[in-house]
Amino acid sequence: MVDIKLEDYQWDALNCCGCKGCIWVDHIYTPGIRHGIKCPSIMHYFFDSYSALGRCKLALGLLEGSLEFSSTAIDIIYKCNLCGACDVGCKRNLDLEPLMILETLRIKAVEKGSAPPPPLKAIAQSVLETGNPYGVQKLPSNPETLSSSSAPQLVFFPGCNMLFNQRHLLKVTQNVLSATGLDFAQFPNPCCGRPLYVAGMATEAKAIAEANISFLERAGLHTIVTGCAECYKTWKVDYPKLLGSATNQMPYRVLHTSQLLDTLMTRQHTLQFVHPLPPALAGKKIAYHDACNLGRLSEEWIPWSGTRGKWGLTSPPKIYRRGTYGEYDSPRKLLMAIEDIELVEFPRNRENTLCCGSGGGVMNAFPDFAMATAHSRLKEAIDVGIEVIVTGCPFCLEHLTRAARQTGAPIRLYDIAEIVAHCLGLYDLEQH
Ligand code: SF4
Ligand code: SF4
Repeated sequence: MVDIKLEDYQWDALNCCGCKGCIWVDHIYTPGIRHGIKCPSIMHYFFDSYSALGRCKLALGLLEGSLEFSSTAIDIIYKCNLCGACDVGCKRNLDLEPLMILETLRIKAVEKGSAPPPPLKAIAQSVLETGNPYGVQKLPSNPETLSSSSAPQLVFFPGCNMLFNQRHLLKVTQNVLSATGLDFAQFPNPCCGRPLYVAGMATEAKAIAEANISFLERAGLHTIVTGCAECYKTWKVDYPKLLGSATNQMPYRVLHTSQLLDTLMTRQHTLQFVHPLPPALAGKKIAYHDACNLGRLSEEWIPWSGTRGKWGLTSPPKIYRRGTYGEYDSPRKLLMAIEDIELVEFPRNRENTLCCGSGGGVMNAFPDFAMATAHSRLKEAIDVGIEVIVTGCPFCLEHLTRAARQTGAPIRLYDIAEIVAHCLGLYDLEQH
């Protein structure tokens, strides 16, 4: 069992004032109305029910017993990317916790036996039976190895997408990590458990968290490096959340590859770019797409319990996660270190980024909705002249690349590790 309950967020649901800060990018951050909505769900389904606002009312009705987990309620609960844009917006106004309401709605729906929806249930089953969401019985052979002594400094957690789906990213990331000269071992378990958590199966996700942490502890390892934004957030935020702990109490720390590489390049000066961008990319407008899970969702988890007084004042004081301290700078610093690069920004960037559309189980459960959001993101890019998109999440890369192919959008997409590998002379971007 896990101690994450919808009931703990009843005060938040009750105090939603309907201001819609969870839907719109705050006006001081957006240049106009065209890219002003940041909630993919309401952007696609139009009704307030498909926003954090509506889901707060739904949560209240479920808690008070005036609503039940009907098929409509389940539809509303799962047609959401769990992207956290609403949470950032809400905390500019009222310091409520809409994202925790969205997560605990799923957990409660599963407890009541009304969820997960069949596509997410099938993926969860694959994770439970085979250890990975793709249902692959045997790990693919891995000709690319990382150097490892008996006591490696770091452990590389590739995640299921690189291991089973985008093998070229696995090889590129391994090559970049090898080039750092640090001693890595590769984590044996492919899954961080995120598919279970987004399905609402918190108990099963917790079991994976415990198994993964226990492996680390037995191996005496303390630092994990991953190139996957979803794995990064799961290890950093969801594991302590599931275990009733805090990020800074965990027996390990987790780094995204961009953070490690940024440190080695800009602070320790032990990594140097030797190759410029290839001619096909030189002079192009390049933008970094903030993956929700590496950016606004990745702030440290700090549990809170206490009482609320007048105006909701908390005792002891509650520390809020507002998205401000997510990882935004490391990938940008790596890109800015490239000679002659023209780095531009999406109108919706950093904590106001628009989800690529794949998160929260949406890519599997509601592919049309997922694709519509990806199309919006590409349209936003085209509107401001972006020609190349770089990201730090294999799921964003896969999903936006598929959308670009579908629409014929004149945009090239890369993972940050591919760009770094090229500039280190380990990879040829023009061949990909
Ligand atoms: S921003 Fe917060 S208070 Fe305002 S409508 Fe959205 S959930 Fe409710
Ligand atoms: S998590 Fe994302 S998709 Fe879901 S309600 Fe919030 S902003 Fe909308």
